[in-house]
Amino acid sequence: MRHHGIHHVTAIAGPARGNLDFYTRVLGLRLVKKTVNFDDPGTYHLYFGDSLGHPGSILTFFPWEHVAPGRNGVGTTQETAFRVPEGSLGFWMHRFIEQGVEHGSVEKRFSQSVLTFKDPHGTSLSLVGIPNAETEEAWNVDGIPAEHAIRGLEGVTLLVENGERTGTILTDVFGFREAAREGSVVRYRTDALMGSTVDIRSVGGFLPGRMGGGSVHHVAFRAKDDADQAGMVKKLAETHGLQTTEQKDRNYFRSVYFREPGGILFEIATDEPGFAADEAQERLGAELKLPAFLESRRGDIEARLPELA
Ligand code: ZN
Repeated sequence: MRHHGIHHVTAIAGPARGNLDFYTRVLGLRLVKKTVNFDDPGTYHLYFGDSLGHPGSILTFFPWEHVAPGRNGVGTTQETAFRVPEGSLGFWMHRFIEQGVEHGSVEKRFSQSVLTFKDPHGTSLSLVGIPNAETEEAWNVDGIPAEHAIRGLEGVTLLVENGERTGTILTDVFGFREAAREGSVVRYRTDALMGSTVDIRSVGGFLPGRMGGGSVHHVAFRAKDDADQAGMVKKLAETHGLQTTEQKDRNYFRSVYFREPGGILFEIATDEPGFAADEAQERLGAELKLPAFLESRRGDIEARLPELA
């Protein structure tokens, strides 16, 4: 089931300008869409991803200019991981030192090398060394040779009281399988190239998380199309007693949302129609894009949004 896996991760950041600079210049991702939060059009919604914005490469942010810091804890996504070529962690360690990025040392998890770091607004991130990832296409930016560039998302680590029911949703509805266990972490995987891994850490008795700057707002899983999504919605209701929202048109995908048993907000997003729906591939991210229902308010919206450069 190659079309399954994570579609995107959405997090909350501080000021938009610093968010854009960090993900495009420091990490070398492509800004694939510049739009607003459809439910709160005074706030940007910035999408970062690979050269074409493939599902599984996308990390998005709602940047809030005056955000209070969030706290990781039970019922939150603890970490979001990117894929890099296995031999590139040394390059990234050096780059983090040079760019003043808060980072840890290289550690082993499930026999993979992992380098943890944080963005300027406290989002917990990591780079995972992946064999042969250097042969995959990369987005080019100054200072990051293609052989070391990030190749999309690897996955997320979810922190929940008891991960069993969350894991069942992954395997029964989203096409994941249990792949390995290490301490209190169970790893679930799909065959997708990107966004293929979810680690569930069960931590009974920890403090609950608090949403704020640096917090992941939700994790979106892939559905091939509307029919695939409808099948998942039906299964969630009939087998798991979980109701989703009605489908919302997000212009670049169509989504439903629900809170999984561990308390984390999940989304199911279609692969269709993708980020080239309203601008050419070579122009992705160049202009502020608004959904049709907000176009008549463009002047007001543009005047209120913060400067990006
Ligand atoms: Zn989303």
